[in-house]
Amino acid sequence: MIPRSNRGFIEKKILKNGYDLEDLAFFQRLETDFPEFRFLLGDKFKFRPPKTIVIGPPEAFSRLLTLHEVSHAILKHKGFRMDVTRLKMENAAWEKAKELASKYGIEVNEELIQDELDTYRDWLHQKSRCPKCGLTRFQTPDSRYHCPRCDEFS
Ligand SMILES: [Zn+2]
Ligand SMILES: [Zn+2]
Repeated sequence: MIPRSNRGFIEKKILKNGYDLEDLAFFQRLETDFPEFRFLLGDKFKFRPPKTIVIGPPEAFSRLLTLHEVSHAILKHKGFRMDVTRLKMENAAWEKAKELASKYGIEVNEELIQDELDTYRDWLHQKSRCPKCGLTRFQTPDSRYHCPRCDEFS
């Protein structure tokens, strides 16, 4: 349950943060459509499991980014340790965000989505490379990486 005092938080803060009236209407609609989620303002767009969506400062794709975070919440994403799972979740959240975008009449920017996903792909690639020999390592469920060439299981 969302305490009553949290409702309408957006209304007071969002304009002060540089958003316009049209944005305000959008965020209010989200608040109405998703009363189970809590919307806050913060320094960047993020989802804090299980139900908090942090709205970052205004930028070109604020609404689309917000829908992406809302999608994480709808899909009930939790903390994730396995990196491949993380990438899958990001993909799933973008797919959901596209669905929501058409419902809310928000323009989808495929380039933004690919850029966002690339940061995870790069990160995944970086993390999976063995620093010693450059071979792609694999992860065990404890999130640790192992190189098939350099590491002995210990
Ligand atoms: Zn995400
Ligand atoms: Zn290695």
